[in-house]
Amino acid sequence: MVRPTHAVVDLDGLIANYRAIRGLLAGGAGGLPPRIVAVIKANAYGHGAARVARALEGKAQGRSAPPPMLACADIEEGVDLRAAGVRAPILVFGALSVSDLDGLFAHDLTPTVSSPSAARALEQAAAARGVRLGVHLKIDTGMNRFGFRHDNLPATLPAVLQAPHLAVEAVYTHFATAEDRDHPLFERQRTRFEAIRAAAAELGLAGVWWHAANSAALLRDRRTWYDAVRPGLLLYGIAPPPLEPDLRLRPVMSLRSRVVAVKGMRPGETAGYGARFVADRALRVALIPAGYADGLDLRLAGRGVLLVGGVRAPVVAVSMDSLVVDVTAVEAAPGDEVVLLGAQGADVIGARDVAGAIGTVPHEILCRIGARIERTYNP
Ligand SMILES: *Cc1c(COP(=O)(O)O)cnc(C)c1O
Repeated sequence: MVRPTHAVVDLDGLIANYRAIRGLLAGGAGGLPPRIVAVIKANAYGHGAARVARALEGKAQGRSAPPPMLACADIEEGVDLRAAGVRAPILVFGALSVSDLDGLFAHDLTPTVSSPSAARALEQAAAARGVRLGVHLKIDTGMNRFGFRHDNLPATLPAVLQAPHLAVEAVYTHFATAEDRDHPLFERQRTRFEAIRAAAAELGLAGVWWHAANSAALLRDRRTWYDAVRPGLLLYGIAPPPLEPDLRLRPVMSLRSRVVAVKGMRPGETAGYGARFVADRALRVALIPAGYADGLDLRLAGRGVLLVGGVRAPVVAVSMDSLVVDVTAVEAAPGDEVVLLGAQGADVIGARDVAGAIGTVPHEILCRIGARIERTYNP
């Protein structure tokens, strides 16, 4: 049984995006192109982490290229991936202190160490098991989230590097403003990371690999590619706004539904909770069985559009389980296909359009698509 509102995930599109990114990286200046760490946290931005991971493992690598490393947000996501049969290396981005460390060892996950206390906890856990644990070290170069402060490393690093059961394999940072060409923080963060690389030997960081770039940074500045890049959004076929890369991307997720009813509204009547929408003339509206419980934002009322019969129908009201859209401009009938994200006829609604309409990022639009919405995979 498939509810009328469902998501279609185009795994061929995902692989095509992966290859497009790899093609871009292969055009860098000499040397080996950077490796791809495919970011599949938050259920692969709503696309289904296990299916996305298995598709990337199976088809993304060419004859010569190594398979991607995968990255998830926390140990629990990593354990779920292993339970689904995923064997690629998995980097865990998140804070470890409140998580179940056993999962790291039982499922061969690579944790991020982003504080002295996390390093101590991991060293203890690895020592107790008599193993040496490979870790990535995170440096906070200005985002003020996770990571060792960039300006304090001589004080904090020695304990991590001397921990007998920890092997630092990589060092990374994360940009706060990579998509914003006017913001000075990007360049400041990049320079700080460069300074750490330059002092690597002094800091005891020899023989590690380095990574920094999310989708926006990798599009924007080749100097951030280093040994690996960490695209998320780009894999799903969407460039971080406002960047307009010269890259052939295929949006992977589309969200579709059907009209369940059509009715008339008279001038002056209102629709939805709070009676916030008022018809200024006679209208025909269609009801669509998807609402904020499915991750559709309340702010879409008066701002968003759907495609019905190849025409853009404005959203007039959003409730928990339904939308009311204005179909005055189109012949709509119960059963007609509705597109909330994706193409219909010659028109397309992208996650960037939806994000722009309500003032958020496309990442949020994708991640929020609810658990109640069944994903069907193609192929
Ligand atoms: C989410 C995340 C990424 C990917 O970001 P995109 O903007 O989706 O490319 C990369 N690195 C880290 C540390 C992240 O948390």
